[in-house]
Order: sequence, then structure tokens, then C-alpha cells
Amino acid sequence: MQDNLWQAVLGEIEVSVSRASYITWFKNTRLLKYKDEALTIGVPNVFIKQQLEGKYNQLIVDTLAKNGVKPERVEYKIHSSVIPKKSPEMQETASAHPQTSSESTKATRLSTTTLTHTYRQGLNERYTFENFIVGSGNELAYAACQAIAQNPGSRYNPLFVYGGVGIGKTHLIQAVGNAILANNPKAHIVYVSTEQFVQEFLDAIRFKKNTDFAGYYRGADVLIVDDIQFIAGKEKTQEEFFHTFNALHQANKQIIISSDKPPRDIPTLEERLRSRFAWGMSIDMQNPDFETRCAIIQTKAISHNIDLPPPVVEYLANLVQTNIRELEGALNQLLAFCEMRALSPDIQLATSLLGSAKMRPKHLNSKQIIERTAKHFQIGIDELLGPKRDKDIVVPRQIAMYMLRSELHLSFPKIARELGRKDHTTAIHSVEKIEKEVGFDTEIREAINQIKERLYA
Ligand code: ADP
Ligand code: MG
Repeated sequence: MQDNLWQAVLGEIEVSVSRASYITWFKNTRLLKYKDEALTIGVPNVFIKQQLEGKYNQLIVDTLAKNGVKPERVEYKIHSSVIPKKSPEMQETASAHPQTSSESTKATRLSTTTLTHTYRQGLNERYTFENFIVGSGNELAYAACQAIAQNPGSRYNPLFVYGGVGIGKTHLIQAVGNAILANNPKAHIVYVSTEQFVQEFLDAIRFKKNTDFAGYYRGADVLIVDDIQFIAGKEKTQEEFFHTFNALHQANKQIIISSDKPPRDIPTLEERLRSRFAWGMSIDMQNPDFETRCAIIQTKAISHNIDLPPPVVEYLANLVQTNIRELEGALNQLLAFCEMRALSPDIQLATSLLGSAKMRPKHLNSKQIIERTAKHFQIGIDELLGPKRDKDIVVPRQIAMYMLRSELHLSFPKIARELGRKDHTTAIHSVEKIEKEVGFDTEIREAINQIKERLYA
């Protein structure tokens, strides 16, 4: 009885807070007692107790009231019965959870009649245009995807987007599917990872159900194939995909393909596929620049109701320069740490939590920093290390010293020696000067970011 009440309350809370908050703060709670006007909720640990008391008490009281329960007091008690055991499924609440993707995929494939009910499963609703930050590296791909979403099959067919790991390819191509579905819920959007496509194809051959397989993909209005590079070396699958491609293309159905490299660099890609990929439009997605990375961090933080101080945002943006998935990971690590301890994120916390050497490749050395800096400013290494005191050599030299300090934590005498100076006070002054200037001189900051970007690429 009481269990049902609490399930109902949890069910409502689940839809009113973020999924992450729900799982972190609410999932492992129980109603322990409701007697004599006091209602006691069991929680697994003191962090959750503090968070529910401090932040969510009103929500809980209100939701209880909506369910007709108005206790005088709500108490939170750490209780062994709710400390999670090592069996996540058993801890799931009774409220509805989406099917796991493998289940739903199976259901989709079993019969075409279920297609309209489950086709959405291939797409993750989290990936939308609205929460995709547009910057110089991805604006072209974004524009093409928007155009396709408005008018699938008419232009840019196929669309082939390629670029490095974690820069938003999957997000963007799924956003197309989600946007088309929002306009037209009946559209048959088929999103598939190439690995899944290969696997299904092999299964289809093995179990002699080739027609189902072919029919499923050829029945799509929009076919989105992610990470096509994995089709390399799979001759039979390439052939099958070739026929699927032709059937869809002839029927003016939209095809969107992603890859980590351009078609010409995919080894053992059949020539006829390669040439077909070139029929439409190929777009190179570039690494996000500093501003884009800052905007992504800021937006994600705000979606967690946290306003990050600008130094923290910039720190994160410098810490992870190419892979947005890792950028999100670093941010989430910081937010989780702060949430657990009820701290607000600041630069000290961020540096001590994330500043450890583990994010940095170990092979970086002084020589690389000096070479990269000279190259960036288009001057010779001998000039950088030499005696000249012209401004356009002195500043790069100071920046090189600054980077030896910030990236390798070298001592000042060592920094001086690396730059061919005798006096280590020059190194101290140089590093201090640049340290100050990165604060207000955008040109210097941008130069340093670019050098770092290349060093850590
Ligand atoms: P890829 O497929 O290129 O490896 P993903 O699309 O999986 O990269 O992106 C990695 C993560 O970064 C996802 O969580 C995605 O939502 C996020 N992401 C990537 N680009 C952006 C962007 N421009 N704006 C917001 N989030 C982004
Ligand atoms: Mg991807």
C-alpha cells in the first residue's frame, strides 16, 4: 500500500527532474514509514539525504500532497534496506522504462508490421538540432543537415559527413531523423550503425532471411548509416549495401552516411560505392574551436541548472580540445563531484580534480613545444633560441617559456636552459608576463590555444 504511494510519487518526480538527477537522488529511495503524521523516507547515504533535504524537499512534499498525503513532517533516514546491492535490474522502480535498445531492435526486425511502432528506437531523442551548438567546425554540416530535414531526398543525396571521434557526427545525423519525425511521425526513418548493419546482414545470410533484411532497409524513407568506415573489407556487405543504396536513391529517398574519414581513405571500399558516395555532398566536420567548446560547456552546465564561472569554462575548454564526448565527460565528472559534496564548481576544484596528468599524453617534450611555437609564429627555431630581441621573436620566445611551465611544469632554470638563456630570472619574468596577458589579450590566448591544439592533437 505504502509502496504504491511511493511508486506513484517517484513516477511523477521522474518526469519532472532530469534523468540523471532522478537516478542519482531518487531511484534508490523507499517509503519506510507513514505514521502519526510523520513520513519517513529511506535513503542509501548521507549525500542523498542532504540533497533531498536541501534541494528536493519541497518537490517531494508537493508531490505527496498531489497524491493526497499531507504529513506534518517528512524525514529522511539512511537505511540499510535501500543501499543498492550489486544487481541494478533489481533496483529498478516499477515505473515505465524504455526498452533496451537490443530488445527494441529485435522487435523491429521481427516483423515489418511492428515497424511503425518501433522505428523510433534506432534514434536517440537526446540528439536534436536545438541542443547542437553550431561553430566554425560544424556549421556547414549543420546547414546541410537542416536543409535535408526540411526537404529530405531532394538535395544533398547522399550526404556524407566525416570527421574525427567525438565531434558530433552521430548527434547531427540523428538530429535529422528526429526533426523529420517531429514533422511527420509516419516517416520511416532507419538509423543503423554500420557494425549493426554488418551483423544483421551476416545473420540474415546465416538464417536465410535475406529478404526481410533487404526489405527492411529498402523500405526506409530516410536511411542513416553511421560509421561506414566499418564496412571496409566486408565485401558481401558492401555489395548488399550497394543494392540498398541504389534502390533508395532511385526512389529519391534520403541517404545520410557518416565516417571517420573521407571515402577515398576508407581502405578496400569498392570503387562503385566510393563513386556513389560522391554523388551527393561530402562535408568535413572539423574540430570545435575554443569558442564552440566554451559554448558547449556553458550550455551543458546550464541544462544542469549550473552557471559555471568563466574561468572554469575556459579551463575545461583548454583541457579537452578535440573530442566533445571527452569534454562532456570532464564536465560531468566535475559536476558530479560538486553535487555529491554540495560545493559550487570553481577553478581550484576543477584544476585539482581534472588537472592530473592522466589527460595529457606523456610523450610531449620541450623540443616539441619549442618547435610547435616557432612554427606557429613562422619563425626559425634558431631565431627563437637565438639572441635577437625584436618583438616578433621575443613574444614567441616568452610564449614558449610559458608553455614549458604550464604544460611540462619545468623549473625556471631548466626553462632558461631549454631556450638557450643563462639567466633564469628572464624565464620567471617571461612566464609571469604571459600568465597575465592570457587574461586579457585574446590574440595571445588564441595563439596558445592553437599551439596546444596541435600539440595534443
Ligand atoms: P561522433 O559521432 O562524431 O563520434 P557524437 O555525435 O557521438 O560524436 O558526439 C559526442 C558527444 O558530444 C555527444 O554526447 C554529443 O551530443 C556531443 N556533441 C558533439 N557535438 C556537439 C555540439 N556541436 N553541440 C552539443 N553537443 C555536441
Ligand atoms: Mg558516432
